[in-house]
Amino acid sequence: AAAPSTAGTLSDDGAPLAVLGHDVQVPLVSGEKVGYAALDYAASAPALQRVWDDVAAYAPYYGSVHRGAGYLSQLSTDLFEQSRRTVADFLDLREGDQAVFTRSTTDSLNLLAGVVPAGTRVFAFETEHHASLLPWRRHGLTVGYLRAPRSCAEAVAALDAALAAHPEGPRLLCVTGASNVTGELWPVAELTEVAHRHGARVVLDAAQLAPHHRVSVRELDVDWIAFSGHKLYAPFGAGVLAGRGDWLDAAEPYLAGGGASRTVAREADGSVVVEWHRGPARHEAGSPNVIGAYAIASACRALTEAGFDALEAREQRLVERLKAGLAEIPEVRVLSLFGADSARVGVLSFVVRGWNSSHFAAALSAEYGIGVRDGLFCAHPLVRTLLGGEDAAPSECGAPEPSLPGERSLNAIRVSFGAG
Ligand code: PLP
Repeated sequence: AAAPSTAGTLSDDGAPLAVLGHDVQVPLVSGEKVGYAALDYAASAPALQRVWDDVAAYAPYYGSVHRGAGYLSQLSTDLFEQSRRTVADFLDLREGDQAVFTRSTTDSLNLLAGVVPAGTRVFAFETEHHASLLPWRRHGLTVGYLRAPRSCAEAVAALDAALAAHPEGPRLLCVTGASNVTGELWPVAELTEVAHRHGARVVLDAAQLAPHHRVSVRELDVDWIAFSGHKLYAPFGAGVLAGRGDWLDAAEPYLAGGGASRTVAREADGSVVVEWHRGPARHEAGSPNVIGAYAIASACRALTEAGFDALEAREQRLVERLKAGLAEIPEVRVLSLFGADSARVGVLSFVVRGWNSSHFAAALSAEYGIGVRDGLFCAHPLVRTLLGGEDAAPSECGAPEPSLPGERSLNAIRVSFGAG
């Protein structure tokens, strides 16, 4: 572990993104105060200074969108729709794709689950984050969970076989771009190629990918993509679902209400007939989170301007430095599905022999001011597989476990960061 004096300065080169919070001082058990080392970006990345400034500059002018005739209402409507276009550019959406503002990745995937046609068979690797694993367990859909693959090639072959075994009807693969546990990159383009060859569609969970890598929906050819603002250096409360409009426009709105409805008419027989909007408004009923959308767009612009080449290069230097440091500690075992040298973003989980991970994480915080996460990271089947057994303790996301002496860790420690 880093000595207290290095907390808050994981790197010695300049960060291309200025984030808030790196100069926050936190108390240690010793009574000393040190700069906080935020190493839990995979849960929520610190907001960019730039995003905060943009939101603060807009705040006095904001008004209700798509409703008011007043100047500020029009301004807000313009900025909201401009934010949508910025997100579309950031994701390199195709002609005809829609970008719907949601609350988060979880919300986006639940929205999609609600518009998937009845009778669809959804495939997901059991290694997914629960947000990708669970929304499909609803009436009318069948879920096929695919066993944890131990290589990218195995993942592609498993999908190929599963789709060949179920050639009929609408099928959808939900897959992550980068694991929230190991940080490992998934072969999204290859999986999509296989899915499309079988006539299936793909939704990409980019919650952990989008903050670290340029993502092009056009190039990856996925049908939908979901991500969260709070992992992309914007504040909490807003996310995006973007992609093909056909299923979105054919389904009932995710939320019924004002904004989603184009006309509502009372018939002579007393019934009420609704015509829903087509396009993103259909699934954005109620007053939308304009500030959240604006903040996401600001983050998208900041990342684009900083340049993903520079962001990735810096992050990879940090990844290598972390891996080299951990390799010097014999008790540490880094968790990996695809092998120690597999490509990963700035997310890495490990266990320490003889240590309860929750206690280890608590000690990093109390003794060094280093904020990491411990637990099963809302990916229980994956972490249990990586820890080598089905008997890992059931734990809520990140909930501390009782002290269990011995060599076997029942949960893991995760370090995550980005280029900021
Ligand atoms: N998917 C992945 C891969 C994640 O890491 C997370 C959050 O950790 C989510 C989905 C859910 O994101 P949110 O909590 O913002 O809905």
